[in-house]
Amino acid sequence: MEYMEYIVYLAYMVSCILFIMGIKKMGKTPTARRGNIISMYGMLLAVVATLLDSDVMATWNVSDMMRNGYLWCALAVIVGGAIGMYLAKTVKMTGMPEMVASFNGFGGLASLLVAIVEHVKNGGEVLNAVNGFSLGLTIIVGGVTFTGSMIAWAKLSGKMNGNPIHYAGQNQINALIIIVGVVLSAIYIDPSVFGGMSADTIVYTLVALSLVLGVTFVIPIGGGDMPVIISFLNSLSGIAAAMVGFTINNVVLIVAGCLVGASGVILTVIMCKAMNKKLVKLLFAKPVKPGAKKDGGVQKEPESISAEDAYLILEAASSLVFVPGYGMAVAQAQHAVKDLTNALEENGCEVNFAIHPVAGRMPGHMNVLLAEADIDYDKLKTMDEMNPLMGTQDVAVVIGANDVVNPAAENDETSPIYGMPIIKAYEARNVFVLKRGKGKGYSGLENELFTNDNTLMIYGDAKNTISQLVTEFQNM
Ligand code: NAP
Repeated sequence: MEYMEYIVYLAYMVSCILFIMGIKKMGKTPTARRGNIISMYGMLLAVVATLLDSDVMATWNVSDMMRNGYLWCALAVIVGGAIGMYLAKTVKMTGMPEMVASFNGFGGLASLLVAIVEHVKNGGEVLNAVNGFSLGLTIIVGGVTFTGSMIAWAKLSGKMNGNPIHYAGQNQINALIIIVGVVLSAIYIDPSVFGGMSADTIVYTLVALSLVLGVTFVIPIGGGDMPVIISFLNSLSGIAAAMVGFTINNVVLIVAGCLVGASGVILTVIMCKAMNKKLVKLLFAKPVKPGAKKDGGVQKEPESISAEDAYLILEAASSLVFVPGYGMAVAQAQHAVKDLTNALEENGCEVNFAIHPVAGRMPGHMNVLLAEADIDYDKLKTMDEMNPLMGTQDVAVVIGANDVVNPAAENDETSPIYGMPIIKAYEARNVFVLKRGKGKGYSGLENELFTNDNTLMIYGDAKNTISQLVTEFQNM
């Protein structure tokens, strides 16, 4: 069977290489799809190699297959694969963050279950200190990831109130649970040192503590900060997988887990930067002082314009920037936006897109939608690239964006989004805001951009409005 172990190790190495190549390609929109497919093959190879592993495959004898768990594995792959495929095919683009949150959660749960099985299998005996300590840490990180992600999922999908829920001593309680968890993980290496405490007690206490910690840790975090938390939980799901890799001595789990963990941390840092938040402050949030204003207290009524009249301004524009947001995803307006881009360019107008890192409901949401509509990647400018040019633009067309263009982030110190960098749409000579009505953005704030002198609202579903503008260009 030794040759099989070599084959398994070789397959694991190839899987790791495929994961790294996949992640590299995911860094750019045009190659992201290929990157996804390469990583998918890497994962398939890792799964097949794991099933061939001598620890899993004691014999090919059919009567022993049930005992060795192959039929259970097949059943799990069929049921899990079918559910995953159904969810992925039916999920709306706007429901993607919830889906990512639940995937993270189940990743954490899977690691936690592997750790429990390893504990039961070995009857609490550990091979060495690394195996034992990592088993405890896997349970903590896996459990936190599971219940934390479920709370994030419930907040994002509106199943529970998205407002922060603060409670007395929240940070102290969370810190205490973490310390107790780490100490118990260390004791698990050799419970006899602390006479009286059985390995079973340690493991099931860790499970309970970690599940509680996931809840106590995510409920004080408000809706506006959820993107950062989703990305952080994603990173935790990778860390849990890497830890369980140490527990069961599985190389591919360690590498894949580290890749997910590291890329999740990088994304979390990028999101924090985009929202001008400190991760530690966000994770150990202090309750908002009573009396702080919830919004900018905007009194003036916004002025509106019809699509027909807006066309006259667009027709004369020589530079225009689209600022897409969540509403563009809801309206599925990206193809109509592509048609309008073509019409504007044929009319001699230079068109660009200003993409805010947290526009929409998931990282890269706008890039994905615009790439789907075949909009030239070079036109998609980052916030930092576009903001210095905003004042030179004849028109900024805000398509279903709200928080990411809200000037309160710059000039209202009491606003919950104060300090978050925004797309400076207000600097353009003319600003059109496409939205259906008076709906607020994700953070539930008023937006003074809508009442600025250079802003005109075009009310209606974004796709309908843009299609009307395209028709006007076609009839000119
Ligand atoms: P937003 O602040 O959520 O605002 C979206 C706007 O779109 C709403 O004001 C809504 O107004 C409008 N809208 C909805 N459906 C529409 C339709 N069919 N046609 C036209 N307009 C429509 O969006 P954003 O500016 O993109 O900001 C994103 C927010 O989500 C940020 O606060 C961010 O922190 C948060 N977030 C981001 C992520 C991420 O990873 N990107 C994840 C979770 C949360 P009406 O109802 O009046 O139409």
